[in-house]
Amino acid sequence: MTHRIAVLALQGDFAEHENALRQCGSEFMEIRQRADLQKSFDALVIPGGESTVIGKLLRELELFTELQARIQAGLPVFATCAGLILLADRIENDSAAYFRTLDVTVRRNAYGRQLGSFHTEGDFATLGRVPMSFIRAPSIERVGNGVTVLSEFDGKPTAVMQGNQLALAYHPELLADHRVLAWFLERIASRGKMG
Ligand code: GLN
Repeated sequence: MTHRIAVLALQGDFAEHENALRQCGSEFMEIRQRADLQKSFDALVIPGGESTVIGKLLRELELFTELQARIQAGLPVFATCAGLILLADRIENDSAAYFRTLDVTVRRNAYGRQLGSFHTEGDFATLGRVPMSFIRAPSIERVGNGVTVLSEFDGKPTAVMQGNQLALAYHPELLADHRVLAWFLERIASRGKMG
């Protein structure tokens, strides 16, 4: 069965996610407006960018409620950085909250002192070491009982999975190593879902 991945293309690094999907041989489409929700897709990518801007556009374009309902109903999601913030149940240093489908508390712009951006590598699930690019990234300060931690940095989770949602504080889409995305795609291809 062919899977088609929808990329939320309102703001942020959605083009890099599309490039990564292309490299993985995956079919994709963009979600830019309400009419795009009529098309059929099997998973959703929420890119990095500015969570406040993406959150505002989701509401203005009347995408928010339907996407939230679909995620709650089990639509697989691959989210990076701002995407993680959009899924989080709570944002520690912001009164806003968005989809609230992922039982974690995050802190925005939590890593790095000066530019707030750095590169490292670390273990991801069973993949071994993968490169990790942090760009004004959120930290994950709390994870709920149903949340599995897949990678950590500095003693804090940096990749988590709950049900069909996979969310990363870093940006694999910016690098040439697409194993984390391939891991997600393989899981949904073989099971139609993550878990
Ligand atoms: N700092 C951004 C935010 O708060 C996230 C940064 C990113 O996605 N690279 O939304």
